[in-house]
Amino acid sequence: MSPEKREKTSILIIYTGGTIGMVQHLESGTLSPVKFDQILKEVPELNKFNYNIKTIVLNPVLDSSNMNPSVWVKIALIIKKNYNTYDGFVILHGTDTMAYTASALSFMFENLDKPIILTGSQLPIGTIRTDGKENLITSVEIAAAKQGGKSKIPEVCIYFDFKLYRGNRTVKRDSEQFSAFHSVNYPALAVAGVDIRYSDEFIYHPENNGILKINTRFDDNVVILKMFPGISEKVFNSIIDIPGLKGIVLETFGSGNVPTSLWLINCIKKAIKNGIVVLNITQCEGGRVIMGQYETSLELLNAGVVSGKDMTAEAAITKLMFLLGQSLSNNEIKMYLNKSLRGEISE
Ligand code: ASP
Repeated sequence: MSPEKREKTSILIIYTGGTIGMVQHLESGTLSPVKFDQILKEVPELNKFNYNIKTIVLNPVLDSSNMNPSVWVKIALIIKKNYNTYDGFVILHGTDTMAYTASALSFMFENLDKPIILTGSQLPIGTIRTDGKENLITSVEIAAAKQGGKSKIPEVCIYFDFKLYRGNRTVKRDSEQFSAFHSVNYPALAVAGVDIRYSDEFIYHPENNGILKINTRFDDNVVILKMFPGISEKVFNSIIDIPGLKGIVLETFGSGNVPTSLWLINCIKKAIKNGIVVLNITQCEGGRVIMGQYETSLELLNAGVVSGKDMTAEAAITKLMFLLGQSLSNNEIKMYLNKSLRGEISE
């Protein structure tokens, strides 16, 4: 049905798995996802919106620790297929890798003009103290929000525990608290209290209003290499020497620093000479990489390492996989890594 002919706001919920729809197994006591296709029965409050709400259940449903690029593509294709029929999309997803999926989807969609809101919960929706109901209900309301006939939030976001964040700025910070996510380097896009208060000035709008495009190729020849005091040449070298490796996200200390050992700089130079793209991000929750600020990062700059500035590790690795999956030269990849594609980096 074309959007003009629709009278009611239409929202598509895509259930991928995660705690929100899990049940506990009697024998083992473990939690695993169930089909949970009766979402409107579980959360009858949703009917009060008077929206047309439809649910698609991914097959199989997953604990999000089992997510991978092929599932990101599956989700993106469902959205693409239903894009004109719905006003907004809510993805129910496990919290463990939600920030990776949100980041990956943000890069996949070009010229997005509708909301894609990921949410989930820390307690299954069938439990008395579940946080899943509020997370789901408010996500649906946000996905339906319009202003001047247009979607209020044309972004891939994570809504959790009363806050709406840009997906590619978000990190899972707690496995027990209801406030499981945060976004240290970018403000919340909305806060839900008595009203949902949107911070319009922080919402991302695509630069040109072209038609929706999705890019579905990712390259998994990448690694996240976290620095630690005492990392050995043997370990570092064996990672650099992985056959077919094309990209490294180097998680460095503070504002982008590494030990000044000659072997380390030589390893990095060798990697870059072999065509591997090296992206520098910080291990800190907040702040950014400033290569050249200290002696301990100057050599990285000179060697041709790219600054990831204030990107999260989740955004950095998915962006690298995404860019390596496109037909781009190394110089183009380096240029795009360093600039904002979907608001994931402060320039
Ligand atoms: N292991 C679960 C998952 O990510 C945790 C959760 O949903 O909170 O699917």
